[in-house]
Amino acid sequence: MQNIQKNLLKIKDDIANGEKTHGRAPGSVTLVAVSKAQSIEKIKIAVASGQIHFGESYLQESLPKITTLATQKLIWHYIGRIQSNKTKQIAANFAWVEAVSSYKIAELLDKNRQSTMPPLNICIQVNISQEEGKAGVLVDEILPLAQKIMLLPKLKLRGLMAIPTRHTTFEKQFATFDSLALELKELQKYGIPVDTLSMGMSDDFAAAIAAGATNIRIGTAIFGTR
Ligand SMILES: *Cc1c(COP(=O)(O)O)cnc(C)c1O
Repeated sequence: MQNIQKNLLKIKDDIANGEKTHGRAPGSVTLVAVSKAQSIEKIKIAVASGQIHFGESYLQESLPKITTLATQKLIWHYIGRIQSNKTKQIAANFAWVEAVSSYKIAELLDKNRQSTMPPLNICIQVNISQEEGKAGVLVDEILPLAQKIMLLPKLKLRGLMAIPTRHTTFEKQFATFDSLALELKELQKYGIPVDTLSMGMSDDFAAAIAAGATNIRIGTAIFGTR
């Protein structure tokens, strides 16, 4: 358990170095600690170490964590697959939903977000490696979906998210992340005010930072194996 604090310090150091090496502004990369399948006790250690952003993939498991830690002013990111019948609770409990890949789900999240809450931050998940059976839209589908999501009043489209094929070399990891970064620039060219690239996990976040990641989602390297 002590390791969680150490791991966080190490990753924050790696992030700061990555920002420096690749000409990124200091603080431009947000660390989302992926706490799925991890206990509340472990999350509390991360919170005590100053961690604010947490990512969860399963609604049922996340709700008691969010409730228990409600006084801590944490920022919760839903990063899992979304079923229609879960959109109400997702919209009520999370600040970000990072894996939207259909208009139908976006519409339900908008409908279920309370007007008294700030807009729900949204990323479109892109199947950037074009893998069969993988969640996310194809590159050609990004712009039309973004244009429609933009019109939903209780959502705020922030950018793109991807879980690429696992590559073992930095160069290959970078090439895939860079192709997602290009798609974000493409949206910006069309006047869509997006600022977020959610990409990079425990094994490839250095390449993601080099390619422009603004949210990196790290579980194992912080909390250990699940
Ligand atoms: C589990 C998960 C992560 C974290 O993966 P690690 O390899 O443990 O860092 C990141 N993103 C998503 C979408 C995940 O489901």
